[in-house]
This record gives sequence, C-alpha cells and structure tokens, in this order.
Amino acid sequence: VWISEVMLQQTQVATVEPYFERFLAAFPTVADLAQADEQQVLGLWEGLGYYRRARAMHAAARQLVAEHGGHFPADVATLMTLPGIGRYTAGAIVSIAMDRPAPILEANTIRLLCRLLGYREDPTKAAGQRLLWHAAEALLPRQNVADFNQALMELGSLVCHPTRPDCANCPARPCCAAFAQGAQESIPCPPRKLKFETVREAAVVIHKRSAILVRQCGPRERWSGLWDFPRFAIDAETTQHIQRELVEKVRDQTGITILPGGLLNTLKHGVTRFRITLECYEAQFAAGRIRTDRETPARWLTVDQLADLPLSTTGRKIARTLGKRAG
Ligand code: SF4
Repeated sequence: VWISEVMLQQTQVATVEPYFERFLAAFPTVADLAQADEQQVLGLWEGLGYYRRARAMHAAARQLVAEHGGHFPADVATLMTLPGIGRYTAGAIVSIAMDRPAPILEANTIRLLCRLLGYREDPTKAAGQRLLWHAAEALLPRQNVADFNQALMELGSLVCHPTRPDCANCPARPCCAAFAQGAQESIPCPPRKLKFETVREAAVVIHKRSAILVRQCGPRERWSGLWDFPRFAIDAETTQHIQRELVEKVRDQTGITILPGGLLNTLKHGVTRFRITLECYEAQFAAGRIRTDRETPARWLTVDQLADLPLSTTGRKIARTLGKRAG
C-alpha cells in the first residue's frame, strides 16, 4: 500500500504497474529497501519522475528500521513523521493496510464530499481542507474501514465524475446537497490555474576520445541523486555568445575547459510548473581536471556504460540518441 500510494502520486496506474512489480521484487521488505544503495533505488525509479519520492521512501525505510524495528506504526501522527508520508498516505496505510479507522482525502473523495456537503468554496484552501478532513473522519464506520475508504474513492472516480456525474445510479443521491440544488456541475469550484514558467537550458555532451562526461546532480538540483550531462540555464542568443556561455558554465560546473561544437538536438519537457526547452550541444574536452566533490561526483564513461547508470529523463534521451548514432 505504501509503495503503490507513493508511486501513484502524480502518476497514472498503467505507468506505475511495471515499476511497482520491479520495485517489490527488488525490495520485498522494508529492511531490504533500507539496506539498498540509493543508486539502485533511483535506478528502479528511473522514468517515473518526481525522484524526491524515491529518496524520501528510501529514507523512510531506514527510519522505520532504525526507530520502529522495520514495522509500520499504526497511527497517522507517527507515520507522518516519516519522510514523504503526508496525511493521505498515512491514512491509506492505516486504513487500507491495517483496516483501522483513519480518514483519507484525495482528488476523487474531495470532489465527492464537496458535492455531498454542497461546499462551494475552494477545497484546496485551509478552511476547505479542515472541513473535508473532518467530514471524511466523521463518516468512518467502526469496522471495514479499508473497504469503506476504497469504496468512497471508487464512488468518486466511477460515479461522481468531474463532469456529468452519474447521479441516476448514485447510492449517495438521497443525501447529496449538490444534487438537491442541481449544482453538480458547479461544485467543486474550478481549480486555480497553475502558472507555467518557461526555462531555457543547455546540456553539453563532452567527448574525450571514446568517453563522455556525466556528473551526479547535487542535493539542491532538480534531478538530485541522478546522473546527467553538465546542464545549466542559458540566455545567450547568437552562436558565438552561446559557445562562450557553454565554455564558462561547463568550467564553473565541472572545472574543465571545452571546445564547443554543434547542436545535437533540442528537447522540450515539463517538470512541475516549468516548461523547459533543453538545447543539447556537443563539445570536445580541451584541458583541465574534473573538479569532483562528494555530492556531485563526475565520471568519464562510454555510451554503453551509461545504460547502467540512473540518468535524468532527458539524460536518458540524449544517451539513446548517442547510442543510435554509434550504431
Ligand atoms: S448524487 Fe450525483 S453529485 Fe451527488 S454524489 Fe452522487 S454522483 Fe455525485
């Protein structure tokens, strides 16, 4: 329950399934996960995105072993002291895995409860959250909490759809304020629009004979713990200025000097609220020694060796392009 709930945050069920199988096969117990090397955990998570979840889960496994004998505490408040476990995940573990009373609130039950209560304010704000958690708790039965919580989520996802809810076949219709008011389509109020930010970055594939330079991203970087090509934001526009910026920023990030080459390809991708255009350039090593530290080690590896390294999503795409080119 813990692993599936964490993997399903922001990710579709069909995407999660193969990851879930592989993860459980590699780490069948909390102790196995706690003992694992972070690179192995990140490797099994590669492609699933939001890597902070994997690192938090790994840290939580270690805390469970260190402080709770490798077992899950059976109360929501203690579970919420573990990294990456919020009120929803704690409620899911207690109610679904242990069948003990604990409320859960997620997208489907938020919509369902807003409609049942006729709640017209923004459910993501503090007052809405307080009310809905309170309602989810007040509704809990004494027994069969696991079935009840899962049934609420199913009712929300299969019957009380975001648009055109199937009120004619809804068992909760007699006590639904939105139905009584004919307000199903306007409750809950529409979500606030996320403001996207556009970002332009460069990744540099630096060749030194048959090897390529990769570095591990530091704790304050977007892909923390994963490996990537030297990468940074750029703002120069002309080829000459871009090349100068690449030389300076590669030197800042790695300590070496490069001879910049041409554009390999351009990748567009989104991470949380950022819409990123990533320009991938090639370059030749010119001089200097790699500056490494414990948090951001760097290595010269062949394209084949990149297959065994947990890479950022775009890092993997670049590695595939290089692999295809090498034949
Ligand atoms: S009656 Fe309609 S709006 Fe109310 S809970 Fe059921 S499906 Fe949702």
